[in-house]
Amino acid sequence: MSEKTSYGFTTTILHSDRQKPIEHGSLHKPLHTSVTYGYEDARQLASVFQGREPGFRYGRQGNPTISALEEKVTRMEGGVASICFATGMGAIGAVFQALLKAGDHVVSSSFLFGNTNSLWQTVAGQGVGVAFVDATDVANVEAALTSATRIVFVETIANPRTQVADLARIGQLCRERGILYVVDNTMTTPYLFQPRSVGAGLVVNALTKAIGGHGNALGGSLTDTGVFDWSTYPNIAPNYKKNAPAMWGMVQLRAKALRDFGASLGPEAAHHIAVGAETLALRMERASANALAIAAMLEADERVAAVHYPGLPSHAQHGVARELFRAFGSLFSFELKEGIDCFDYLNRLQIGISASNLGDTRTLVIPVAHTIFFEMGAERRASMGIAESLIRVSVGIEDAADLLADFEGALP
Ligand SMILES: *Cc1c(COP(=O)(O)O)cnc(C)c1O
Repeated sequence: MSEKTSYGFTTTILHSDRQKPIEHGSLHKPLHTSVTYGYEDARQLASVFQGREPGFRYGRQGNPTISALEEKVTRMEGGVASICFATGMGAIGAVFQALLKAGDHVVSSSFLFGNTNSLWQTVAGQGVGVAFVDATDVANVEAALTSATRIVFVETIANPRTQVADLARIGQLCRERGILYVVDNTMTTPYLFQPRSVGAGLVVNALTKAIGGHGNALGGSLTDTGVFDWSTYPNIAPNYKKNAPAMWGMVQLRAKALRDFGASLGPEAAHHIAVGAETLALRMERASANALAIAAMLEADERVAAVHYPGLPSHAQHGVARELFRAFGSLFSFELKEGIDCFDYLNRLQIGISASNLGDTRTLVIPVAHTIFFEMGAERRASMGIAESLIRVSVGIEDAADLLADFEGALP
């Protein structure tokens, strides 16, 4: 298959391994489990170590199976390079480990995945200032910038309350100020949205979620979109400035985060994720349609107090979501009317499974305040717009009629 960039999303994923020489005609990238790589010429080994020629040396920094997945993620995001990590948090942690130092400042959306919120608290304890802002309006981001701000971090659709960041305007602001814009694209996935299109320099994907898609492997990735000018970034060590400036960010991330901290993706997980990714577009279409149908049904029911889903015209950022995303995603959250116990409701569901994780083929439900957002306390939950009775639903690819009957039938 010749190099051509105009194929559609799914064709590109399915055939990306064939852009490199195929091993033994294998249509799946073989699962390489070797930790180390031997060279007949010791000089060549030295040359690989010194970055003077490409090659594999030790499994913590990558292997051919991981590289193939990195290539696939890069193509999905329309970027220039990607690095895979053991988990999504490994990828987000890498941004902090490799790119920030004491005295630096980060502006982050306050509407965040709970563990990312927890990570920023850790970072704040290590000398990096973090300002949390309502990122649905670029004005709040702009007001929080300081001369030490290195990074602006947002999620596309916030998990679990589904606020949509002011993605394009924040991108414009970051471009004007020369600030690295990092976008966590987990909730939208590169099928619904490419953050590169709004000026993101780095894109985070929790591959565990919809990209892997079957709840059978953990993984994360960072993609350099090629948009950010690394020659302006103050924290690149002289060691990592030997290549062209376009490479600096990824070279430092691979060394300072992946190599030094070791959150490396395993080859078996990479294989599961690569197979899952083949059907990402199909699953996202189906799950988004299911989510819209259930969210609309619940919103119209008087026993439901609120439904949060960007696909509903009542959602505060419905317009932005419609403008930027191909569909509205597989996740929504809702609140039952006062007096209806959320645990009893969840226990009446037959198809929706009480479990964490999202982006699975199966529909998963969770009482947010009592589980994934329990540790942060009621005050911070309130500031994030998370009601104590909020139920998060990660909609799967089951048949729509079955899901509608399940969610309606569980209402008292
Ligand atoms: C799940 C998730 C992560 C973390 O991914 P893991 O693979 O579980 O570490 C990061 N960001 C978002 C938005 C997520 O939903």
